[in-house]
Amino acid sequence: MTILSFFTRASRAFNGYPASSKLLLLCTLSLSGGGVVAYSEAQVDASKTSVQVNEKDCKKKRVVVLGTGWAGISFLKDLDVSAYDVQVVSPRNYFAFTPLLPSVTCGTIEARSIVEPVRNIIKKRNGEIQFWEAECMKIDAANKKLFCRYTVENNLVGNDEFSLEYDYLVIAVGAQVNTFNTPGVLENCFFLKEVEDAQKIRRRVIDCFEKAVLPGLSEEERRINLHFVIVGGGPTGVEFAAELHDFVQEDLINLYPSVKDLVKITVIQSGDHILNMFDERISSFAEQKFRRDGIEVQTGSRVISVSDKEITMKLKAKGEICSVPHGLVVWSTGVETRPFVKDFMGQIGQANRRVLATDEWLRVKGCEDVYALGDCATINQRKVMEDIAAIFKAADKDNSGFLTVEEFKDVIDDILERYPQVEHYLKSKHLRDVTDLMKDSEGNYIDKVDIEGFKLALCQADSQVKNLPATAQVAAQQGAYLSKCFNRKYKWKDNPEGPRRFRGSGRHQFHPFQYKHLGQFAPLGGEQAAAELPGDWVSMGRSTQWLWYSVYASKQVSWRTRVLVVSDWTRRFIFGRDSSRI
Ligand code: FAD
Ligand code: MG
Repeated sequence: MTILSFFTRASRAFNGYPASSKLLLLCTLSLSGGGVVAYSEAQVDASKTSVQVNEKDCKKKRVVVLGTGWAGISFLKDLDVSAYDVQVVSPRNYFAFTPLLPSVTCGTIEARSIVEPVRNIIKKRNGEIQFWEAECMKIDAANKKLFCRYTVENNLVGNDEFSLEYDYLVIAVGAQVNTFNTPGVLENCFFLKEVEDAQKIRRRVIDCFEKAVLPGLSEEERRINLHFVIVGGGPTGVEFAAELHDFVQEDLINLYPSVKDLVKITVIQSGDHILNMFDERISSFAEQKFRRDGIEVQTGSRVISVSDKEITMKLKAKGEICSVPHGLVVWSTGVETRPFVKDFMGQIGQANRRVLATDEWLRVKGCEDVYALGDCATINQRKVMEDIAAIFKAADKDNSGFLTVEEFKDVIDDILERYPQVEHYLKSKHLRDVTDLMKDSEGNYIDKVDIEGFKLALCQADSQVKNLPATAQVAAQQGAYLSKCFNRKYKWKDNPEGPRRFRGSGRHQFHPFQYKHLGQFAPLGGEQAAAELPGDWVSMGRSTQWLWYSVYASKQVSWRTRVLVVSDWTRRFIFGRDSSRI
């Protein structure tokens, strides 16, 4: 047997095994004895409860999912695909692990290591999902129809446009970069939202260095080319600044020694602090670290325009306007609703809202059979004061006009589930028991309340309603939640599991969506990170960076990407980052 045919056969045999066994084999062969952390593959549970489709209705209901991001993929991962005709539309035929995108901008991780092809995911679901690589251009809510277009520029034959009908629509299209209509931003800034954006930044950083070392440039010109500006001091902007600083210090100054003292990184933030959504300790730790590293943090500045040469901003305190020349501007300030979702909102009476609103079951308000999750939607939490009279009436079983402690206790679980702000309110007031709410206006405990007393007890609870952040964590949990509801949609029709309906009778079919915050990281470069962990824990420093490595490796959607990511980290550790302009 020739060497070539041996490898061909070996490769065929190898490819015949499932990914997990191959990985085990690889680990045993090449990493035996190494400190490899073992993570469990997020496998699809084949023994999922099957949806019992209504017997009269032999035709499967068609579920169309828009988007293959965190929300869409998490929904598909657990959905019982045998019970529905599932079709997915997305202009990206892959899932991207966005939290590692900043690492792609500097080549710490390669772009392909953080993406998983949708077709791989479909293969794992026995091919029972149909995928169309196209963009949804319009939703016709009245006729339950979608209009889509293949958007890749091509000279291939055939029609690019098609339409789809749906029984249920799941909108998980994320959001788009928000420029706040700042002149010149679209034309002259780089963004950090998609994989292509990260690849463009990586090339541009190298361009800046190569241009800066060409003969015939003045020192000032070299300095301008090496001025990297990041607009937005949120987690993404800060992480990119930290990555770039590491890239420069660990790799580029050795490759471009003549310009090593001319590099400058500036973070522009309109608020008073960077990372202001984190605990104060984290934000000041990050500011101190950046100061030590020589990253300039310019707070209280609002960018008013960007040209190809300069960025112009207004310093809030002094009201002054100043312009600074730059080599690269990365715009990372927030997101807004996509235009076709705006158009859909107009059709369903949500025209004057900024973001598509759903109820606590992720059902789009004002439209039957349409669900929305992830960055493209917000949950409009029902206020307890809107239903206070109905709650009182339902709780006052003996119609006495008073609620006793016993009567109150009887409904409290349903109240806490339907209106989670009540629990947050109790926590904020350090009340241990809901019966602590039963006090008169002087603060004395009472054994029964009338409607006015009941209103008084709960009147401040609605101030604790919080919008969920636009994060992968929220999107993924919503996807998993919605798939569970779909899996039990028919079977549980007559066994509602949700809280009681205070307006009306019976119970809600499902528990409302409840977000569990598992913490949040802010990598700060130099093998240091900060993290907010559940239970108001804050952790900072090198050990937190190791926690970051393990969490992000474990959260990968497949063993394939997990191995790629860990090997990229190892490669960077041994050989440094690659500075080729590819
Ligand atoms: P997305 O993941 O954006 O997916 C949207 C999907 O819809 C995509 O597949 C897209 O191609 C598709 N789509 C778009 N338009 C259409 C259309 N017209 N028709 C059909 N499909 C369409 N969150 C965290 O929790 N932790 C982090 O560390 C973190 N880091 C981040 C770092 C960066 C650089 C970025 C950009 C984001 C980060 N996030 C992080 C936020 C997180 O990525 C988002 O909250 C998350 O992606 C939202 O998921 P989604 O499914 O709603 O949208
Ligand atoms: Mg009573």
